[in-house]
Amino acid sequence: MATLTSTSVISTKLLGSLGTDFLDTDIDSSIESAVKRDRAELYSTLTLPKPYLSVSQIKLFLLCPKAYEYLYVLKRPWISNVPMLKGTSEHQVFEKVYQEKIEGTLVTTPKIAGEFGVFRMEENAKEEGFTLTSKVKDTIFKQIEKEVTTYVEVIVPKVNPLFVEKEVRATLVSGIPILGYIDLVHGDTSKEIIADYKISGKKWSLSKAVNDLQFQVYSMLTGIKDVQVHNIVDTKLKVRKSRKDTKHPEVYDAASNIRVINVDNATINYAHLNNIIEGVAKTISSGIFVPCALDSWKCTEKFCNNYSECRGKANR
Ligand code: SF4
Repeated sequence: MATLTSTSVISTKLLGSLGTDFLDTDIDSSIESAVKRDRAELYSTLTLPKPYLSVSQIKLFLLCPKAYEYLYVLKRPWISNVPMLKGTSEHQVFEKVYQEKIEGTLVTTPKIAGEFGVFRMEENAKEEGFTLTSKVKDTIFKQIEKEVTTYVEVIVPKVNPLFVEKEVRATLVSGIPILGYIDLVHGDTSKEIIADYKISGKKWSLSKAVNDLQFQVYSMLTGIKDVQVHNIVDTKLKVRKSRKDTKHPEVYDAASNIRVINVDNATINYAHLNNIIEGVAKTISSGIFVPCALDSWKCTEKFCNNYSECRGKANR
């Protein structure tokens, strides 16, 4: 199992461990070595807007290549919205609490964490030039307090954090550098677990967690196969803090609005993952940015900053 160190950024050359997995095992060995050489040289033939592909770039490209073009190639400004600001604020609280725990100076109680979440939301809104109406404040502030307070009360005491906001890098067999930021690594010397906070309107399902590209790439970058979704769910209902059993042993509802899903990535198909990443890199480099399906959830005024420019008023 790969070990993360706090002093250095992970930089793993995956060629040795994963390279042959990406090749057809039936092909002649001379062809195999030629194919391997070609793949290793792929990166030098590509034109990418940044000298690496990040997990968020890959995710956006797969969601909508056109949206990727607007953000990374045409460099249109990223416009935040209230749910995003809320998510960022809650991430900031969890990062602070776990950092305090790592340093042995945990002073943030669940109540203080809730208040800090609201403070961060106000600050983030100011920085982004957002005016929060009293109606939005009334709803969002209560949600933040409820979600953050419950998470810090029921999850934080059970977690032994090792790293927060950990930067990880690796170079694929094709020479493509990959970059990711992991919210939390926790565990001990015998077992490290990658965790990511997912704030959502609906509870995550086990199959969504198993197929999540972000977690699979993190496992590929670090060699850590145990991943965990920390799903914080928006709810207008009163929070129940007692554990409720679910259909799957991997899914643990620590409270009515906090779900933890454990996924073992030991059997993920790295060759397929690599093909996805190489395909994304090659298509970006080709300069062809196809708009996504018209009925995609992303292709709406609410979720796409570039809706007017891309689809035009007539299509609303
Ligand atoms: S409007 Fe639709 S196709 Fe165009 S960038 Fe946005 S999500 Fe993509």
